[in-house]
Amino acid sequence: MSYKTVVGLEIHAQLSTNTKSFSADPNKFGLDPNTATYIGSLGMPGAIPVLSKEAVEYAIMAGLGFNCNINKESTFERKKYFYPDLPAGYQVTQVDTPIASDGYIIVKDLEENDKKIRIQRIQIEEDTGKSLHDGGEFAYLDYNRSGATLIEIVSYPDINSPEEAKEFLTKLRNTLRFLEISDGKMEEGSLRCDVNVNVIDEKNIKKSSIIEVKNVGSISAVGKVIEYEANRQIELLEKNEIEVRSTRRWDDEVNETVLMRQKFTADNFNYSYDGDVPNLIIDDEIINSVREKMPELSDEKRERFIKEYNLSEYDASILSNDKDISIYYEDVNKLVNDSTLVANYIINELLRRLNDENIEIKDLRFKENNFSDLLNLIKENKINNNTAKKVFRVMFEEGIEPISYIEENNLIQVSDEGFIDSIVDEVLAENPETIEQYLSGKDRVLGFLVGQVMKKSKGKANPSVVNEIILSKIKKQ
Ligand code: MN
Repeated sequence: MSYKTVVGLEIHAQLSTNTKSFSADPNKFGLDPNTATYIGSLGMPGAIPVLSKEAVEYAIMAGLGFNCNINKESTFERKKYFYPDLPAGYQVTQVDTPIASDGYIIVKDLEENDKKIRIQRIQIEEDTGKSLHDGGEFAYLDYNRSGATLIEIVSYPDINSPEEAKEFLTKLRNTLRFLEISDGKMEEGSLRCDVNVNVIDEKNIKKSSIIEVKNVGSISAVGKVIEYEANRQIELLEKNEIEVRSTRRWDDEVNETVLMRQKFTADNFNYSYDGDVPNLIIDDEIINSVREKMPELSDEKRERFIKEYNLSEYDASILSNDKDISIYYEDVNKLVNDSTLVANYIINELLRRLNDENIEIKDLRFKENNFSDLLNLIKENKINNNTAKKVFRVMFEEGIEPISYIEENNLIQVSDEGFIDSIVDEVLAENPETIEQYLSGKDRVLGFLVGQVMKKSKGKANPSVVNEIILSKIKKQ
């Protein structure tokens, strides 16, 4: 029997506001423990929370960026539970009416068609502190993060594959970065993802219990979680075993999910309105002023790249998805003025290397104008493709300047017919059988002859000129 995988995601994104959500305490990381906690972050009785305007603007921006409705009036509630990293005994969050709802992100489904993954809600909430366990008898508490602003983004269970989930998350993270409201670093915990998975058979009769996998640490791990859970749950269904709804976690070392706790009853957080935080009223004027501050986002950018630079949809989407890459593309193209050449080189050479080495554009060893110099040499036909690739490799690895490197190593392409002519004569004289083969119809051997000439020219000959000269000489024979 075949099964459908059903996935919903809950994402917590830490907003990069200057202060915390309800106090003037600084929202800074990497400080000594408990030094960003004057009064508002410690749940002191009597401390009056005042909602940060910046946090509200950022949350509205997220709402608009994810195509949501901004709710004109939203509410704040207390989610009550005891944990040492939560000194007030409750977290302020938005339950009844969140700041934004009913949005979506568009991804490609398995048939490469556009698919809307709906977003149910985006709510503002406070972060907790951090507990650090030393593995022995002590635990330490650092409240620097306590009260920092999070937005929780909840999707509908519209995701049906690991690929869709990964694309959804990538787009979500990239949009937060375009908007500059969160750094979106999953490895550092500023973006955290809970994954809800179950499977349903095609006749909609048998379904597994929804399993929540908490705090998955990377986008690729989210893909693995979904694949692993779907297989595990299908196996249970096939054996007619019924599992209790439960929470699991992903273990990166063994590539498996591990049971944390079973949910025999619904969680009870005893929510109540927060009497200290009035409802949030947002009018059109505020929404419009936030909208005016928003940069161009990836969907819009992709359409513009297709029109303005004549790119394919595929190339345009690769170059528009990520903020740094899109800026790099446009900056380099200003210096080269050949949108196709620049797009091809960034996608096929630069991004491939960046992915292989797992580094980002801002960490490149060479400067932007070095890259445009290289592309201009290709454009002006001064170096051939092979040389360009070699030089690019050295640039990428050692950060050299291409123009001086090419001069020092004497790599300028030679199109001079006299120079090429004499090498072609040599090669033809050395390979009479190959010429025979060519004349008897084996076109492919031409490549061998061109290769021999390229080798003797130390890679400097212009291959299309070589090609022409060889052909004209063979035909005369
Ligand atoms: Mn939450």
